[in-house]
Amino acid sequence: MIDRQHLLQTLDALLQPEHFRDYGPNGLQVEGAAQVRKIVSGVTASRALIEAAIAAKADTIFVHHGLFWRGQDGRVTGWLRQRLALLLAHDINLIAYHLPLDAHPELGNNAQLALKLGLRAQSRFGEQDLGFMGERDQSAAFENAGNLAAHVEKTLNRPVLLVAEAQRPIKKIAWCTGGAQGYFEAAIAAGADAFITGEISEPQAHYARESGVAFIACGHHASERFGAPAVASHVAAQLGLAHEFIDIDNPA
Ligand SMILES: [Zn+2]
Repeated sequence: MIDRQHLLQTLDALLQPEHFRDYGPNGLQVEGAAQVRKIVSGVTASRALIEAAIAAKADTIFVHHGLFWRGQDGRVTGWLRQRLALLLAHDINLIAYHLPLDAHPELGNNAQLALKLGLRAQSRFGEQDLGFMGERDQSAAFENAGNLAAHVEKTLNRPVLLVAEAQRPIKKIAWCTGGAQGYFEAAIAAGADAFITGEISEPQAHYARESGVAFIACGHHASERFGAPAVASHVAAQLGLAHEFIDIDNPA
């Protein structure tokens, strides 16, 4: 058991939130118990995750998507009221790190997705250097975008959406987890043959056809399942805390 403040300092030292312009507060979002014993990590602070953390007897939840975002109107109603009520009633700390958790070079969402997919990062691109660029780990390029898409589909165990020319060989691969479709043009400019992210919007299908760079949308949630448990288990081991990752399935 350790002080909450010690845990927060350890996370800040690891993830360095001061280096990011983010869409919401990083670190402690809802104050719970002063002493921390067990962390449950997850992708999003949904009601289902909070209920699962209560059942798992956690005093702290660590997520990528917290409760508070720029542009919210500040009212504690509906889903926000329900989630806050559960956290407060059970004295649970909610800790969230957004962009710092995407960016960490070994434990972050992008680094951990690359590990799953067998990609080796060689450089970074795009706003705040959040985009990763690299190649397949075992030297051989993917024969074409279809092969790469099938590989992503099999690894993440979910259907992906592919917009691509059928036969272009794929050597340089760019990726950025979550809702990073806005990074596609920067990936094209950086010389990628293919770009992997969670979501696609209407314009990117045209950019893919017109540039010849393959676009693979593999699911926002599916692409961001790996950073939170990697960071939480690393820090839990360091501080002697219990940790459990709870994946609340999400088709989006
Ligand atoms: Zn996200």
